[in-house]
Amino acid sequence: MTSSPEALRTIFTAIRTCYSPFDQAYIAYEEYFEYLNRPASNPEFPNDVIRLLAQVAKMRHLSTLEHVTFTFGLRCVSRATLAQLIRHRIGWSYSVQSQRYVNQSKDSRHGGFDFVVPPSIIENDCLDIYIKSMEQAQETYNKLIEYGIKPEDARYVLPNSATANITVSCNLRAFIDFYEKRNNDTHSQWEIKLLAERMKKELLEVEPGLEFLFYEEEECDCK
Ligand SMILES: Cc1cc2nc3c(=O)[nH]c(=O)nc-3n(C[C@H](O)[C@H](O)[C@H](O)COP(=O)(O)OP(=O)(O)OC[C@H]3O[C@@H](n4cnc5c(N)ncnc54)[C@H](O)[C@@H]3O)c2cc1C
Repeated sequence: MTSSPEALRTIFTAIRTCYSPFDQAYIAYEEYFEYLNRPASNPEFPNDVIRLLAQVAKMRHLSTLEHVTFTFGLRCVSRATLAQLIRHRIGWSYSVQSQRYVNQSKDSRHGGFDFVVPPSIIENDCLDIYIKSMEQAQETYNKLIEYGIKPEDARYVLPNSATANITVSCNLRAFIDFYEKRNNDTHSQWEIKLLAERMKKELLEVEPGLEFLFYEEEECDCK
């Protein structure tokens, strides 16, 4: 994953642009360190930068979070989940491995299509039936390619479980919106839930200071 450098400082500068009499250079190089090095007025927070971000998030002054972006290299996401992911339109960019151009026949460089197995298939002892169906789809695909059908048409026999690699970029506001809808929502499906959780984990590995943005409502200590 890659991200905007110094996400915390960038968001802080955006927020303080709204309230400070000083310009962005002063905010980013002077005020930022003043806030960072003084204890938060609310002791729940490690420093005053985090306290300010939490306050702004609570106020829903969320446009300030749009100034930083994150890019994720997602691998082996099912087409079923891809369809759910790309419904998130605002603040997102997608580049998806193409089934039109990438030949997925068994003897291609791809070596055949990869697929996701839902846990319920295994839990209910249906793996054999499932794998047979995947093999059947692969066989039909291979035959169509042999007959000279282009991958863009042969792909019509591939199932929803077939995977794609996706490069995804989003701004922080868009990610939080996505995470709340796809992870916290009890109706979300397991694969996109897992995806949202893994993306959040990667994001926080790079920017641990942003963790407070993901507190559950009842845990939120910025109320
Ligand atoms: C549990 C669950 C079940 C779902 N089931 C279905 C289903 O059965 N069928 C189905 O089709 N979809 C389904 N969806 C997808 C859902 O309807 C949304 O398309 C998806 O969650 C993306 O959300 P969004 O539109 O808010 O995101 P974005 O497109 O990223 O939009 C972000 C925000 O921008 C604003 N916005 C965006 N576009 C507009 C607009 N045109 N007008 C006004 N405001 C706008 C809204 O505030 C929106 O929340 C489901 C989603 C979830 C989480």
